[in-house]
Amino acid sequence: MTWTMRVDWPSCAARGLCAELLPERIHLDEWGFPVVEGTVTPDLLGLAKAAATACPHRALRLVSAG
Ligand code: SF4
Repeated sequence: MTWTMRVDWPSCAARGLCAELLPERIHLDEWGFPVVEGTVTPDLLGLAKAAATACPHRALRLVSAG
């Protein structure tokens, strides 16, 4: 099973905490919204879970990518 991160845009406050916690897969666009790149590989699963948990607006989820 592979995983990716999904952003709930209406809930996201564009402060960028997730990009600090998971820079391997998330960077910020010019407005500060997170851009997710690629899937979450097993070695990044712990960091991805931590980033989702740390999101202060519950706008970031770890979801199955198939
Ligand atoms: S931590 Fe949450 S609220 Fe902040 S930029 Fe990331 S998804 Fe948006």
